[in-house]
Amino acid sequence: MEIIELRGCSDDELIVICQEIGLKRFRANQLFQWVQQKAVRTWEEMKNIGERDRQVLSSRLSLYPLEKVREQRSKDGTRKYLFRLGDGETIECVLMDYARARSRDRQTVCVSTQVGCAVGCAFCATGLEGFRRNLSVAEIVGQVLDITHDVRKEDPEFQVTNIVFMGMGEPLLNYDQVLKAIRLFNHGQGLNIGMRRMTISTCGVAPKIIQLASDNPQVGLAVSLHTAQDEVRNQLIPMNRRYPLDQLMAACREYTRVTHRRITFEVAVTAENATREEAEALARLLDGQFGHVNLIPVNPVVGTGMERPNLEQIKKFAQVLEDAGVSVSSREERGTDIDAACGQLRREWEGEL
Ligand code: SAH
Ligand code: SF4
Repeated sequence: MEIIELRGCSDDELIVICQEIGLKRFRANQLFQWVQQKAVRTWEEMKNIGERDRQVLSSRLSLYPLEKVREQRSKDGTRKYLFRLGDGETIECVLMDYARARSRDRQTVCVSTQVGCAVGCAFCATGLEGFRRNLSVAEIVGQVLDITHDVRKEDPEFQVTNIVFMGMGEPLLNYDQVLKAIRLFNHGQGLNIGMRRMTISTCGVAPKIIQLASDNPQVGLAVSLHTAQDEVRNQLIPMNRRYPLDQLMAACREYTRVTHRRITFEVAVTAENATREEAEALARLLDGQFGHVNLIPVNPVVGTGMERPNLEQIKKFAQVLEDAGVSVSSREERGTDIDAACGQLRREWEGEL
């Protein structure tokens, strides 16, 4: 009989499994809460489920917590985790700004959706590694559960409140698993994270943006735009050759038409691209689009040759956009002293082997 990953199961799936193995329906509820809300890592911790029932359950359901290989803490409170999966692959996951966030009541986890990434963006450490495989629902959800478990050892009240799908991998190329993980995070008997407190970031998989609009899970959407010029974008984000800017922007318009939601457009600014021409091209591209631009200073990755812009350059860039009527903010980078940009820890760690 097929063994199913417990952390990836919905409450309905657990009810069916419990019925199949002759257990009462309420066991499914208990099980779901132990795993998705209390974030336990072993069968033994499920105190209200008897030894015999646990054994029957474990013959159908597997419970593999992620193994913490490494944790780094940044001066700003950001914690970066490197987790090992069942097959030995490693992924990264970041708890942002933990220390300061405590007072603001916002605990954001940045999760990975794939091991590696097939898109291969020029500035991205994950892209440099190539694609290995998709993560399962259990592995996506497991990152947040295991961080919750880890932090609760020192802070028993700890709750993750926000999720961003901005770790390793392209979430819209692992669409079904990401959507199921979102529903598990949102579940009232689980972590109960509001849909509006989750954000999917994509490099621009146009057809999947349209599918997301029709499924409309009410989560936020961030599009990694980075430039308004096709020739430049082809070099930075190879996916642009498949879905160039006119197709991408058409998908974005369709998304806002259906969902009425504002899209965040991410623009990683480098010392080289922070020009008036680029800002003006962006303003033209976004004219009439219900959106918001978020400027991120690029986090230099060894081997990519990109340099961080200075503050003055970013300010000027933002001003051109503002003057053109585009809503804009610049993100203060977190955890740069621990290389918290996606893929950097895994790369550095593997380099040590
Ligand atoms: N694949 C998705 C989500 C993961 S990447 C995407 O590309 O959107 C999350 C964000 O980090 C993206 O906006 C990506 O462009 C950005 N990013 C990757 N490497 C970076 C770097 N070195 N500096 C700044 N931003 C980076
Ligand atoms: Fe993949 Fe996103 Fe990195 Fe591009 S930026 S290589 S899409 S993870």
